[in-house]
Amino acid sequence: TFHKIRLENLTWGESLGQGSFTQIYRGIQRDQEGGEQHQTEVLLKVLDSGQRNCSASFLEAASVMSQVSHKHLVLLHGVSIGKDSVMVQEYVRHGALDTYLRRSQAEGKVTTSWKLQVAKQLAYALNFLEDKKIIHGNVSAKKVLLAREGDTAGGSPPFIKLSDPGVSITVLAPELLVDRIPWVAPECVRDPKALALEADRWSFGATLWEIFSSGAVPLSALEPSKKLDFYLSALQLPPPKWTELANLVAQCMDYQPRGRPSFRAILRDLNSLITSDYELLSDLSPSDL
Ligand code: ATP
Repeated sequence: TFHKIRLENLTWGESLGQGSFTQIYRGIQRDQEGGEQHQTEVLLKVLDSGQRNCSASFLEAASVMSQVSHKHLVLLHGVSIGKDSVMVQEYVRHGALDTYLRRSQAEGKVTTSWKLQVAKQLAYALNFLEDKKIIHGNVSAKKVLLAREGDTAGGSPPFIKLSDPGVSITVLAPELLVDRIPWVAPECVRDPKALALEADRWSFGATLWEIFSSGAVPLSALEPSKKLDFYLSALQLPPPKWTELANLVAQCMDYQPRGRPSFRAILRDLNSLITSDYELLSDLSPSDL
């Protein structure tokens, strides 16, 4: 259920690195429409050839993204299926939010209201998916792409797009699942088949924490076994200093899936947060673990 793209219509550009199972490139897609040639800048995700067993799941991720259309979801142009499976999606100029936040924090570029706008846009995308009963399954700041930086002085907001989920956690090796703590919901570590809409609410909580901690990597200092212990002991990330925000993160990261608020309720909460309350606090960043 996605548009098939012929390999000969793609031109490969520079490598942008890799995902867990993919090699990522910039590229150009050419297509013919009514006798006219079009060229589109695209992002090419190639599934590693050693990962054939993940192929169905990779294509499923593409299929999910091609069924929906929302301004804050990355646009999937199609898939090329040949010797390798290649996902062809829109190229999002400023790349992943986690690295952007770390760079911009150093340059003192991002403000609290910028972060709040990003959080709201992500919640809008997830509310849209939740309404359609579509589970994303891999929400984190790494999966949020920045299409427009925005300009605080000029008043233009940033603009984000949530990326495709990639290979599903239901086919990941257990050690890769542990790497995803604290983004992966605890019930999914116990049993990946427990993946349900509530899991995205947990991941959103961890992503909110990341955004407001300016891209600090939660639990990065912990060994894998300690990350598991963190979940087994039902621990929480250090609460952000902004109380209302800390409450929302805690509600999303409820160990009881049913206790987590819907994205509609999350949006209502985010819309009621007033950044001036936060700017008044002097020490803004939570201590890292
Ligand atoms: P996973 O490891 O979660 O399975 P993946 O293999 O799908 O993920 P991503 O993490 O989505 O790979 O992408 C790797 C990197 O490539 C991102 O951190 C980002 O820097 C860059 N990237 C991904 N998609 C885009 C895009 N559409 N436009 C620009 N850069 C992108």
